Amino acid sequence: MNKCIFCQIVDKNIKADIVYEDKNIVAFRDINPQAPVHILVIPKKHISSIMSLQEEDEKYIGYIYRVCKEIAKKENVSKTGFRLVVNTGKDAGQEVQHLHFHFLAGRKLNWPPG
Ligand code: 5GP
Ligand code: ZN
Repeated sequence: MNKCIFCQIVDKNIKADIVYEDKNIVAFRDINPQAPVHILVIPKKHISSIMSLQEEDEKYIGYIYRVCKEIAKKENVSKTGFRLVVNTGKDAGQEVQHLHFHFLAGRKLNWPPG
């Protein structure tokens, strides 16, 4: 079975601008940024979406939030703010079927999102 595009980034078979990496998580800049800071934070494990989360995956989720806190400090947006978005399924426009958190910052973000 072909690996998904984000698994290929995890494997370093596709290049990405990686801003954080450890055993379980990788964060890299979105190829088509929607804000001055647009980073994707993903578990290295292939989980297609929130709808595929299993109990043993829960440890990644809380940890991703802590990684986002560190990214906010590193990107100098901890005071100005940021938004985390997890598009899930067709109506949300999920294009890549590997769970990812969009970290968006660096401009005023509209609410509600489109
Ligand atoms: P989704 O619509 O699934 O929530 O978001 C997928 C995101 O992945 C999009 O913002 C898109 O720009 C980004 N993306 C898709 N392919 C690549 C890639 O090969 N490299 C990087 N860095 N980002 C990608
Ligand atoms: Zn994957």
